Amino acid sequence: MTSSVIEDLITSFSKLPGLGPRSARRVTLKLIRERNRLMEPLYRQIGAVLQQVTICQQCNNIDTSDPCHICTDNTRDESLICVVEDVADLWALERSSMYRGRYHVLGGTLSALDNRGPEQLGIPKLVARAGTEAISEIVIATNNTVEGQTTAHYITDALEACNVRITRLAQGIPMGGELDYLDEGTLAAALRARLPF
Ligand code: ZN
Repeated sequence: MTSSVIEDLITSFSKLPGLGPRSARRVTLKLIRERNRLMEPLYRQIGAVLQQVTICQQCNNIDTSDPCHICTDNTRDESLICVVEDVADLWALERSSMYRGRYHVLGGTLSALDNRGPEQLGIPKLVARAGTEAISEIVIATNNTVEGQTTAHYITDALEACNVRITRLAQGIPMGGELDYLDEGTLAAALRARLPF
C-alpha cells in the first residue's frame, strides 16, 4: 500500500480517457521520479488551464478568451459556420488547415435519454446567428453515426427558414466514423468536396 495522497492521484489518472489503473500507476510513478522535468511543469500547466479556460459564448469553443480566438480572427471567413459535435472535432478540422470559417460546437448529439435537447446543444443560438449575421453557408460536420446524422437532420430543419446554403462533409467519412479519428488528409478532402445537405 502506498500513501493515500499517491493513491488518490492514481485513482484520478485512472479516470482519464485511455488510462486504466495500470497506466495510471505508471504515470504517477513517472511523475514522482521526474519531479523537476515533468511533475512541476504539469502542475503549473493544469493550474493555468484551470484558472484561464472559458467557453466562448458565441460558438461554445473552449479557449482562454471569450469570444474565442477563432471568433475574433478577422482573417477568417465570417460567412461560413461549421457545426461540430465536440471541441475535439473542431481541433481535428483545425489540424487539417483546410477550414477558414467559424464554428458552432454542439457539445454532443440530441439525446432524450441524456436529457440533451436543442437548447442544450445551442441550436436556437445557431439559428439566430444564421439569420442575423452575414452567414452564407453552414457546413454540418457531425459524426457519421446514427446520433450524429439524426442531429444533422434536426439542424437542417431548424435552419430551413434562414436563407443559407447547408452542406455536409463528403466522401471519406466512414460509417460510424468520428472526425477526431480521421487523418488530416481524409478530413481535408471531405471538406473540400462537401455536398448540399
Ligand atoms: Zn468562438
